[in-house]
Amino acid sequence: MISSFFPPQRTLMGPGPSDVSPRVLGALARPTIGHLDPLFVQLMDEIKELLQFAFQTKNELTLPISAPGSAGMEACFVNLLSPGDKVIVCQNGVFGGRMKENVERCGATAIMVEDTWGEPVSIGKVVTAFDQHPDASILAFVHAETSTGVCSDAAALCALARGRGALSIVDTVTSLGGIEVLADDWGADAVYSGTQKCLSCVPGISPVTFSARAVDRINNRVHKVQSWFLDMQLIMGYWGGSSKRAYHHTAPVNDLYALHESLIMLQEEGLEATHQRHRRNHEGLVAGLEAMGLAMAVAPEFRLPQLNSVLIPEGVDDAALRTTLLQEFSLEIGAGLGALAGKTWRIGLMGFASNERNVVYCLNALEAVLDGQNAAINTGVALPAARAALKR
Ligand SMILES: *Cc1c(COP(=O)(O)O)cnc(C)c1O
Repeated sequence: MISSFFPPQRTLMGPGPSDVSPRVLGALARPTIGHLDPLFVQLMDEIKELLQFAFQTKNELTLPISAPGSAGMEACFVNLLSPGDKVIVCQNGVFGGRMKENVERCGATAIMVEDTWGEPVSIGKVVTAFDQHPDASILAFVHAETSTGVCSDAAALCALARGRGALSIVDTVTSLGGIEVLADDWGADAVYSGTQKCLSCVPGISPVTFSARAVDRINNRVHKVQSWFLDMQLIMGYWGGSSKRAYHHTAPVNDLYALHESLIMLQEEGLEATHQRHRRNHEGLVAGLEAMGLAMAVAPEFRLPQLNSVLIPEGVDDAALRTTLLQEFSLEIGAGLGALAGKTWRIGLMGFASNERNVVYCLNALEAVLDGQNAAINTGVALPAARAALKR
């Protein structure tokens, strides 16, 4: 007979999911109530308000999609695009490629602006793309590229789109809760995120926010949105401002308790303090890795504090190292993706997992396993270097 599943206690320092706090797991285990229960409707309103805070927006259409980050991505594309539209898509990693896929499945055309993996989106190339395609009505880009650990200039890209009369679609799945996301200040039009990265909530929900301009475009659609489930007009009927809520789908009630709790934690710590914590722990980790003799894959000015790409030293068995970390240290770090597969490790310091204990634990484990593989590293120096950086 198959029996209950009891997962081990891992330390999740990969590209997501990140460690979920006991407080959020506790919220998840509270009694399920009806998804149209007046108390649940109140909770929905609070979640919308907390998400406005997280995104730093006054956008009325701000809510969690009942599906993972990929669904938030798809929701933005299917609601804003119609067949025949032209979209400038920036690709400097894995997720820009998924945007292209979304654009094409909407019957629209993707004008690709490609940059080397490990570098940010080039503003100059986007300017050229708009010059060559003045009829492009949308610019889509990833703020924090999780596949490479690179941050692109969201403020400049959104401003550029506005200046050309285009709307912007911004992927903030890995940025929200880790680095500054300023939907209103940027003038972003459709922004989506995920719960399992820096919000350190359970995977499976995708917060989104749409500007008034984006809502206008949605309301003036001629073609029906190709996805019934992700049609914002229908979702608005369920999540909308009026007290009368129409059934569209059953919200993941307990997951939303968890999201509410994780957003409360974000509010309690404060956005600035949260971002500072991510920055400090990142600096501690990098100091330790560099003291060990490892090199970071991304230039300092473009590094994401929540996702650290490290070059794998010559002669090290990538897969064997990650397996040993998992089996002997119950520690998960990420492998390189796409063009960087086998070349980098991706060490996450996301949300609840961004803490000093994890920095020290990861450096210790990495040093032990690399030393065990006879890699040419400096031993005994990573921790003092990390501790000194963490004190700064
Ligand atoms: C993780 C991630 C996604 C997809 O989120 P899922 O929850 O895995 O569907 C999209 N974009 C970026 C940048 C991500 O890091």
